[in-house]
Parts: sequence; structure tokens; C-alpha cells
Amino acid sequence: MDFDAIVIHYGEIGLKGKNRVGFEKILIRNIKNLLDNFGTSVYRRYGRIICRPTLKQETIIKEALKVVPGIQYFAFAISSDLSLDRIQESAIKLLSEKEFTTFKVEARRSNKNFPLNSFEINNRLGASIARILNKRVSMKPDIKLYVEVCEKEAFLYTEKCESLGGLPVGSSGKVVSLISGGIDSPVASFLMMKRGCNVVFVHFYNRIINSDTAVSKLEKIVNVLTRFQLESKLYLIPFEKLQLEVVKNVPSKYRMIIYRRAMDRVANAVARRENAKALVTGDNLGQVASQTLENLSVIHKVSEVQVFMPLIGLDKLEIISIAKKIGSYEYSILPYQDCCSFMLSPHPALRVTLEEVEKLEAGIKFDSEECLEKSRIVEFKYKPCPST
Ligand code: ATP
Ligand code: MG
Repeated sequence: MDFDAIVIHYGEIGLKGKNRVGFEKILIRNIKNLLDNFGTSVYRRYGRIICRPTLKQETIIKEALKVVPGIQYFAFAISSDLSLDRIQESAIKLLSEKEFTTFKVEARRSNKNFPLNSFEINNRLGASIARILNKRVSMKPDIKLYVEVCEKEAFLYTEKCESLGGLPVGSSGKVVSLISGGIDSPVASFLMMKRGCNVVFVHFYNRIINSDTAVSKLEKIVNVLTRFQLESKLYLIPFEKLQLEVVKNVPSKYRMIIYRRAMDRVANAVARRENAKALVTGDNLGQVASQTLENLSVIHKVSEVQVFMPLIGLDKLEIISIAKKIGSYEYSILPYQDCCSFMLSPHPALRVTLEEVEKLEAGIKFDSEECLEKSRIVEFKYKPCPST
């Protein structure tokens, strides 16, 4: 039996008081964009979002809705008029197609004018389903029948599909993410999207040592991440000029710090251009030499906007497990030479001070706006297509 509505529940945005309407509008807009190839109407009703696609391709739509920030869970439902008899008819139709021996009804009544409360709905429906289909009610059932009784109609379904939770992309504003080819920074970017940020990606590469591999790897990673925000922009920024300057003028143990401060400067220029309010990095305390407390403070002191490091307190294994879940891991482990491994010391300075770094920088010619001028922008879009 075909579903005729997708019932979508949002978690946290339900709690936002006066801002709630704004959050809902953004989530509705995102869902519309995601599913518009399916001829879908999407609207808010009864404290839920209801979605009615003309092309009812459940498998493809399910995959798409599973990764939408702001959606807690969703269900492919059949709707019914608001009387116990009609709800019962729909329930029998729905369940007669399923294989099970034991079942349980879980009703939820948001329409307090409906004559039965949820406990009574469970009992009455449960008894008639058991009788008509010759099945048994159990507290540990093979199948659950969910019934949502709303103002003007009821929705029935047997499967709740989890999505990402969090906040809808666009509700928290824009950030610039410094994305390397590694495992960490795609995960950091994902976590910010899940908190409602639109993420603009910036990658620094050395056109002499790693242009093709770096670009194709980064494109694969950003492509995967675009599933969560539907559209992305990647700034590919050539870095070899600065690197040659640094190699000429800076002792190798300080080079990484100087590179990373330069990255922050250019990323700030991108943030100004994009009207983004913060930077994001995949920094993780203690993981590599540039990530001691001292070095991280010296690196990010150059940033005018706030720098967020959502992975700062996670273990590598926790980060890897998120990377696998979001699909970036398989691309992050593809071989390539990171631009910043260029002429680094095997023994980098673990605790630099701002004074020593500023002194070294005084001898380097570098203009972040000019560096940004040389960048190339790649755009990405994600939109699931119906199968023919
Ligand atoms: P990742 O796995 O994200 O590469 P990492 O543990 O390897 O992180 P580093 O290589 O020291 O650590 O990089 C720390 C952070 O600096 C990265 O997470 C990223 O935000 C930023 N970064 C490093 N290299 C680049 C680059 N080439 N382009 C853009 N950002 C970079
Ligand atoms: Mg790295």
C-alpha cells in the first residue's frame, strides 16, 4: 500500500519559543529544495511538517531524508479521516500487508478534542486488530502501529526513520571551514552543519607538488558533505608562493605555525567576502605538534572572527566513527601529499610564543587578499533524482 504523506518530526527546534517559526520555515525550505524533483508539497501542520510527494519513491526519498539536519525522525504514513472507524479501517489495510504475529498500538493524540485519549485508542484499536486479523497484542511486539491523531486527520505508520537531529542548515548563519585532505576537518564541518551552519570550504594546496590529486580528493570530500547542506562552495587556494617565502626565511621547526597563521588570515578574507561569522578547523588537542594549547592559541590569535574547533575534545576513534557514518572516511584515507608537509621539521616546536612567531613573520612577504585573488571556486549541488 502506498504511503500518502511523510510525517516529519523536528526535535530541538520545537523548543525554540518565539524563534520557532523562523526555524520551521528554514527546515521547510530545505526539505522543499531537497525533494523538489519528486513534485513535493511541504507544509507545517499540527506541530509537524507534512510532505506529500507526487512521485512516491520511498527508497530514494528515505535515503535523502535520513541526513537532514533539523529532522529528528520521519515516517511514511497513510492518512485517515478523524473517526475511530476510519482509523481502524486504515490500520487493517496497512497491517494486512505486513508479516507479523504480535503487535502493539502506540497512539499519540495532539488533538485533545478527539473523544478518546491515547490509552483508549491503543486499547480499542488493539482489540479490533487482534480480532479481525487474528493477531496477538504484546509488549515486545514484532511490529508497532503508530497512530498520530491530529486536528483534522490521523496518520498511521509502522516504521520510524531516524534522521540527524540538530538544527536546520541556514538557521545559525555562515562559517568558513578550513578543510584539509585529512579525516578530521570534514567531521568538524559536518558538526557545524548539524548545528545549523552553512559551511563555505577553503582548501590550501601547493600547485607544484600536489595539484591534481589534492583537488580531486577535496572535491570528493566536499561532494559527500554537500548532502547535508545541498549546496557548497569550495575555495581552492594556491599556497606555494607563501611556502617558498617561509622555506627561505623560517627555521623548519616553526614553519607549520606560520603556515597555519597564514591560512587563518586568508580564511578571514574569505569570511569577509562571504559574510561568514566564524572559522572552523578540525584541530584536536594534542593530536599533532601544532595542536598544543600554546601553539593553537598562537595560530588562531591572528583571526579577527571567532575560530571554532568542534573536535577539540574528541578521541581519534570517535572522530573516525563519525567520519565513517557521514561517508567522508573512505575519501579522507585516499593517498595524497598534504601541502603542509612541505619542508617541515621532524621535530616541530611544541610551545611557541607570539613574540617569536611575530618576529619571524616580519621577514615574510605575504598578502592574504592577493592570495585569495588567485583562488579557484568550485560549486557543488546535491539533489536526489527519481528513478525512471
Ligand atoms: P585533518 O585530519 O583535518 O587534516 P589533522 O589532524 O591532520 O587534521 P593538521 O594537519 O595539523 O591536523 O590540521 C589541523 C587543521 O588545520 C585541519 O583540521 C584543518 O582545519 C586545517 N588545515 C590543515 N591543512 C589544511 C589545508 N591544506 N587546507 C585547509 N585547512 C587545513
Ligand atoms: Mg591534516
